[in-house]
Amino acid sequence: MKVQTSENKIALIDTHCHLEMDEFNKDRDAVIRRARDAGLEALITIGSDLAGNTGGLELSGKYDFVYSTVGFHPHDAKDFTDEIFTQIKEWANECRLFGNPPVPPLEKGGERGGKVVAIGEIGLDYHYDHSPREVQQEVFRRQLEYAKEVDLPVIIHSREATKDTLYIIKESGVKKGVFHCFSGDMDMAKTAIGMGFHISIAGPVTFKNAQRLREIAKVIPDEYLLIETDAPFLTPEPFRGRRNEPAYIVHTAASIAGVRGVAAEDIARITTLNAKRLFGIGRIPPEGEIAYKIRDTLYLNITNRCTNRCGFCIRFHSDYVKGHNLRLSHEPAEEELKQVIGDPSRHKEIVFCGYGEPLLRFDLVKNLAAWIKQSGGRVRINTNGHGNLINSRNIVPELQGLVDSISISLDAQDEETYDRICRPAYKNAYHGVMEFISESKKYIPNVQVTVVNLEGVDVERCKKTAEEMGVRFRVRKLDVVG
Ligand code: SF4
Repeated sequence: MKVQTSENKIALIDTHCHLEMDEFNKDRDAVIRRARDAGLEALITIGSDLAGNTGGLELSGKYDFVYSTVGFHPHDAKDFTDEIFTQIKEWANECRLFGNPPVPPLEKGGERGGKVVAIGEIGLDYHYDHSPREVQQEVFRRQLEYAKEVDLPVIIHSREATKDTLYIIKESGVKKGVFHCFSGDMDMAKTAIGMGFHISIAGPVTFKNAQRLREIAKVIPDEYLLIETDAPFLTPEPFRGRRNEPAYIVHTAASIAGVRGVAAEDIARITTLNAKRLFGIGRIPPEGEIAYKIRDTLYLNITNRCTNRCGFCIRFHSDYVKGHNLRLSHEPAEEELKQVIGDPSRHKEIVFCGYGEPLLRFDLVKNLAAWIKQSGGRVRINTNGHGNLINSRNIVPELQGLVDSISISLDAQDEETYDRICRPAYKNAYHGVMEFISESKKYIPNVQVTVVNLEGVDVERCKKTAEEMGVRFRVRKLDVVG
């Protein structure tokens, strides 16, 4: 069996570029080669008018890692005819049939199979008003209706038309797509995400005066974030002023990583997974990872079992954290973990933390922690604090010298709130957690307790409890993991 780890190489996907445009006539093949050399895993070239659609289709036919979309841009809505619409449908349909023989469902790691991966770009542009607004709306509605019929995602262009764009999408019932080169405000981003849409960030996030966009790029939930160049337009710094090309996407990724406090590699993994799932391209590893990297820390995912059933727990609604699949097919053995860790000293820290409670496998944690420490590594455990309840004894003294820090979920100010939020398997679990914290303070150098800022949680009382126990305190944001 192949072991899944975060060491498997992850590359970026440029989800929106216009490779067929005249700006690339002189060096199109070289541009595409440079994108490949820069490590891009796929490019999606976007159709916007008749010539753009045919040009994109030619390119996706020629290059295995180039995909295309078909659709009519609001600028050109005045030229949209029934014949053109029929043609768009034929292109989309032909390319969808490409996937014969049938491929497995996306969740199982398969591809949709076709090279036309979306309808777009479509939408409304009230800034330039190149087409009458009512015509833009009509053309937008028709293409949305078709996308829904054939179950393809849509690429949305919206400029100074927020209210109408959101209204028409809602009315259409389309629930998957992306707001490309997002330039709206926070409210628009939240509404779009609430409707199931992704938000794609482009080069302007690197501009000095783009503070508002950076604020948005900072808070988009991982599972709704995409990245694009919109090449040949919107060139990121440090190349602003030149023609844009897909290889420059690494600068946009670095900028987004900076504002979100993660590594560029994390942004690549997150956005690539999202692009694959939305557009049905590439393979998604079907097995969960037993070790995964975020920033320069290595996390060990040793079990998916837990003695709590917290209402906010991400494992109840997603298999993924920062683009890593954490849904295990088996609980890894000690040797398997050693193999994927390699040299423990090359990681800033090694953390027992996955989709479950690590102290359910206490013997393995102890053995592995001892090996990591002997090999020059640093160890942290993220736990729900049920270790003593699970093992029916005080296990904390056994961790002395093996663990550098421990983070314990306190989660509530009293037993009643704890039972409501965490739904523990044990009676008096809250009391057990408090005892575990106080024992940890005696034997482990760095102890931190955390709460999630949920309704009903008295953060100030929890903070006071932590201070009285002499341990550090941290408030975790709901739905922000890793
Ligand atoms: S303790 Fe952690 S892993 Fe267990 S249910 Fe709660 S959030 Fe999920």
